[in-house]
Amino acid sequence: MTARTISILGATGSVGASTLDLIRRNPADWQVVALTANSSASELAALAREFDAQIAIVSDEAHLPSLRAELSGTGIEVAGGREALCEAASRKVDLTVAAIVGCAGLAPTMAAIEQGGTIALANKEALVSAGDVMTAAVAEHGATLLPVDSEHNAIFQCLADNSVSDVRWITLTASGGPFRTWSAQQIAAATPAQAVAHPNWDMGAKISVDSATMMNKGLEFIEAHHLFPVGLDRLRIVVHPQSVIHSMVEYRDGSTLAQLGPSDMRVPIASCLAWPQRMNTPCAPLDLPAIGELSFFAPDEELFPATRLAREAVHQGGSAPAILNAANEVAVAAFLAGKIAFTKIAVVVEECLHRDIPAVPASLADVLAADSLGRAQATEILETC
Ligand code: NAD
Ligand code: MG
Repeated sequence: MTARTISILGATGSVGASTLDLIRRNPADWQVVALTANSSASELAALAREFDAQIAIVSDEAHLPSLRAELSGTGIEVAGGREALCEAASRKVDLTVAAIVGCAGLAPTMAAIEQGGTIALANKEALVSAGDVMTAAVAEHGATLLPVDSEHNAIFQCLADNSVSDVRWITLTASGGPFRTWSAQQIAAATPAQAVAHPNWDMGAKISVDSATMMNKGLEFIEAHHLFPVGLDRLRIVVHPQSVIHSMVEYRDGSTLAQLGPSDMRVPIASCLAWPQRMNTPCAPLDLPAIGELSFFAPDEELFPATRLAREAVHQGGSAPAILNAANEVAVAAFLAGKIAFTKIAVVVEECLHRDIPAVPASLADVLAADSLGRAQATEILETC
């Protein structure tokens, strides 16, 4: 078998590292084209050398001189800045792993989609913000979107060979995050360190905070709406603290199919890397007797309003999901910087959704404009509160 070409957008992150771990174990199967990072030039340079990448890109141009110095004499191309990132993302490859965090990943992901290749999408904020603009581009360019997010990857597997019209329910499972059993007072005083300490998953800081607020599940609700068009009233969320069942599909005959696995992103990533086949992973097999019991709860939207906000945003339509996402990114960054209380994140997002919402975005430029507006509004709200 000839090696397949792959680019990893966000190679230095948590999903990037899990992807590269699988590639490292199967070096003959892959030829790495582009590896990208925001600013961590030395980490990126080390990966580019190890995987003999064709090109390494730092999105933040200020870090280009150090990347250039680190890779001089290696023959690996280097570049910096947003345009260079999109140019690299548009190089034709067999598989692009879209693993940048936030709406910052949207333009490069769209550049990859426009090449008509296969995109393993981890960057949920891009799909939440762009919605139909992204799915229309996928259809127009004959691209294939494979979901990396564990819930959506589970649903994708449970839907295989079934008709969407036979689906009664899609159930997204949620761990409930580190504050699931906390009181309102404890949650109000939660620190960034407590919020990023997820009970089941080891992830980047932003998604860890999103898991703690439950906004991660809210974003995933919108992500599922775009990936699996069964209708919003057929999507629901259930809290399942063990994170063993990654999501489920119930059919109209009463059968429910679920995907189970360890809480290790290498499982859904491997499913995308090998799709439509399977590959080995080093993950320990599920030990159900050791796990003992699986439990399920309805989400508590009084304590964790984010899933309600996401549902309202997607029902509101227009650019509301892009505004929701942008406001959340700004508020999470402010919380991580110690500037606002944990519970203020949802307050800022809700306040932004009460402002004027631009109409349905028709293009990437419209989505980016809505994103900028949401960021500006959230920043203004933060400055006045
Ligand atoms: P991370 O913070 O660990 O890594 C993010 C990557 O994006 C890094 O390589 C970073 O350099 C790059 N990046 C950050 N800001 C950027 C910018 N402005 N421009 C260009 N590049 C930038 O994040 P992560 O946890 O790996 O998550 C990546 C994406 O995958 C997110 O959208 C997240 O929601 C999704 N996801 C992650 C997990 C997980 O287990 N970590 C699971 C499901 C989905
Ligand atoms: Mg997920």
